[in-house]
Amino acid sequence: AKSPIRVAVTGAAGQIAYSLLFRIANGDLLGKDQPIILQLLEITPALQAVTGVVMEIDDCAFPLLAGVVITDDPEVAFKDAEIAILVGARPRSKGMERADLLSANAAIFKVQGAALNKVASRDVKVLVVGNPANTNAYIAMKSAPDLPAENFTAMLRLDHNRALSQLAAKAGVPVASLEKLAVWGNHSPTMYPDYRATTTDGASVKAKINDETWNRETFLPTVGKRGAAIIEARGLSSAASAANAAIDHVRDWVLGTDGGWVSMGVPSDGDHGVPEGIIFGVPVTCAGGKYTRVKGIEMDDFSKERLKITLDELIGERDGVAELLK
Ligand code: NDP
Repeated sequence: AKSPIRVAVTGAAGQIAYSLLFRIANGDLLGKDQPIILQLLEITPALQAVTGVVMEIDDCAFPLLAGVVITDDPEVAFKDAEIAILVGARPRSKGMERADLLSANAAIFKVQGAALNKVASRDVKVLVVGNPANTNAYIAMKSAPDLPAENFTAMLRLDHNRALSQLAAKAGVPVASLEKLAVWGNHSPTMYPDYRATTTDGASVKAKINDETWNRETFLPTVGKRGAAIIEARGLSSAASAANAAIDHVRDWVLGTDGGWVSMGVPSDGDHGVPEGIIFGVPVTCAGGKYTRVKGIEMDDFSKERLKITLDELIGERDGVAELLK
């Protein structure tokens, strides 16, 4: 039998975690033959609520669950973790300026990056879900100088999955037939879902849809504002779909995509004029526990414009937290 893998999850009492933890424990993350130990981090006032979630996890009697740790200390939560899914973040409250939100989160992710640096597995794979996800991942990465920078990633997968679903509906094809979608940039309404290369059973989806007005006036805003539309309809933010995307992101990173493209926020290597280190959504393939950027994608004028918008936003965020990283 395989020995257990330690999976750390922060924000364990939150909405997303309430979907995520059960699926991890069920084997959806690392496979049905891989025992896991959950290491759950919360802020002190939420620890009691985590205890309640863990009572429910216990009541599922998951065969793969080899242990659960509950703590408010990042150095306990991240100890020997091979996977760290950072969901907990400071939500924007009424009257809070964007700059305040950035710095409140920068403080959290600085501490968590330092703790990962100190106690996590040297190969720990980090996924940041908590917003602003790309910049939070950047801060954690910068605060963990002894860990490989490429192991810090942000979640673009929900945007990717949302785009796949919209495309499949528009083209009238099964979602599973779609390949080669790219979502570029920040996990925010500025991200750019790009289906210029997307195929369905080998044929161009762009040619099949053949409607550039739909792309610009319906598809891009629908995907970009999907989070807000769900809040409007449901009265609560998306949580199960965000948890599902987190599972997809980590599972594919660990177990591979068999040549398929997925979108991940990863530290830039300078491609497409994105300054090095900025955590930017790009298409990747995964194999052997590593991701590889899909290279050689040409940008047309419209795509360049869209890339610039999302990049400018990320540069602004990076500059906004620069002082805190000193
Ligand atoms: P959720 O579980 O709903 O969301 C957690 C984070 O994920 C938020 O930052 C949210 O961003 C973000 N997110 C990213 N993508 C999405 C998406 N597509 N849809 C929805 N959310 C998305 O938040 P809760 O408030 O229910 O729970 C957060 C928990 O985190 C709380 O229990 C809090 O105590 C905890 N926390 C823990 C910390 C720690 O472990 N040290 C630190 C700070 C908080 P957005 O705000 O933009 O919706």
